[in-house]
Amino acid sequence: MAGHAPPGAAADPAVRPHPRQGEFGFTVGTRLCRPDGSPALGRTGTITTPHGRIRTPAFVTVGTKATVKTVLPESVRELGAQAVLANAYHLYLQPGADVLDEAGGLGAFMNWDGPTFTDSGGFQVMSLGSGFKKVIDMTAVETSGADDAVAPGKERLANVDEDGVWFKSHLNGDMHRFSPEISMGVQHRIGADIMFAFDELTTLHNSRSYQVESLERTRRWAERCIAEHFRLTDERAHKPYQALFGVIQGAQYRDLRRKACLDLGALPFDGFGIGGALEKENLGTIVGWCSAALPEDKPRHLLGISEPDDLFTAIENGADTFDCVSPTRVARNSAFYTPHGRFNLAGQRYKRDFTPLQEGCDCYTCANYTRAYIHHLYKAKEMLSHTLISIHNERFVVRMVDNAREAIGNGTFFELKERTLSAYYAGKPDPQGP
Ligand SMILES: [Zn+2]
Repeated sequence: MAGHAPPGAAADPAVRPHPRQGEFGFTVGTRLCRPDGSPALGRTGTITTPHGRIRTPAFVTVGTKATVKTVLPESVRELGAQAVLANAYHLYLQPGADVLDEAGGLGAFMNWDGPTFTDSGGFQVMSLGSGFKKVIDMTAVETSGADDAVAPGKERLANVDEDGVWFKSHLNGDMHRFSPEISMGVQHRIGADIMFAFDELTTLHNSRSYQVESLERTRRWAERCIAEHFRLTDERAHKPYQALFGVIQGAQYRDLRRKACLDLGALPFDGFGIGGALEKENLGTIVGWCSAALPEDKPRHLLGISEPDDLFTAIENGADTFDCVSPTRVARNSAFYTPHGRFNLAGQRYKRDFTPLQEGCDCYTCANYTRAYIHHLYKAKEMLSHTLISIHNERFVVRMVDNAREAIGNGTFFELKERTLSAYYAGKPDPQGP
């Protein structure tokens, strides 16, 4: 940041915007209104990145290791995905961020010319480290009660201190260090259009006092991320501008979420991620608290949702983008989405079912293949089944969010929500199949 702050400036240099931030943009389009005419928090918008635009709300496909599992990048484009999110932790361990830097960045490396995201690595460092999945916990400092919980039967693989986190590679057990500065360095070398600040994750099991302490640490880390991000932006002036999103923690506490939004909202982030363990029943409430308290003119990303009810709830409460591994993960277990629920193609009833996965679906898979064929592939352990179901599932979720965006634009969001969710969760599926 040296060189940007005038001599004798009293303010923390990290809080001054960087001149190149204008290369990233967000504009709000239509604001969502409730049926009674009162304003809701949802909106449409457009995110502008050096690799193209994202019309929001948008579902961002996950390509953890620089690949949307089993799906060609050309197919990812064809199924309507607007952006891909990769994982800094995985790419740091393998093949190494330097390799992506040499390749010209994540997009060039994986032959995806659209916008890209990377998460900070914090979630994987800390969640893989504690053995928990979504509900994670880690601290070397406190040793009593829930604040030191580790998943049963799991060894603690990550320890947090004020400066950062030591963690053990899930690949070979080697020890590695992540800190705000290291995460920024890794994410700059990976080169995605949108990066996330390195934050500490807490769980719903942590005590409130630990949440307070952790939130302060995340704020200090956020300032360090911005300072290092701006330094790297200057150092790598020949590279396309990479935007940085701050991550809002605060668990299920309204005052803590609000404090995080105000603290981080005052910093020159390009956007925000809403993070932390969210219980399904509190999702809308917590996203709503954050949307109401964050700067209106910056995009908000919600990490890790794809169930139809969660998507509509998040959109209604002001989330602009979301990502999730589910569409491809469940596809590898032969589950496919339809407007009438999720079904499992492994069932014998599909053996002679020569209809597409979803009647009327506009995806490549449904245009060309039958349930009987994909059922056969799955039973025969042919990898093509993963590819074909993944294409359909990704298209299904992308299309659902596209429809929600269009419905905000033409004032039919709540009708679409009611119609979509009542069909999807109609109860027991027809035993003859959807
Ligand atoms: Zn389809």
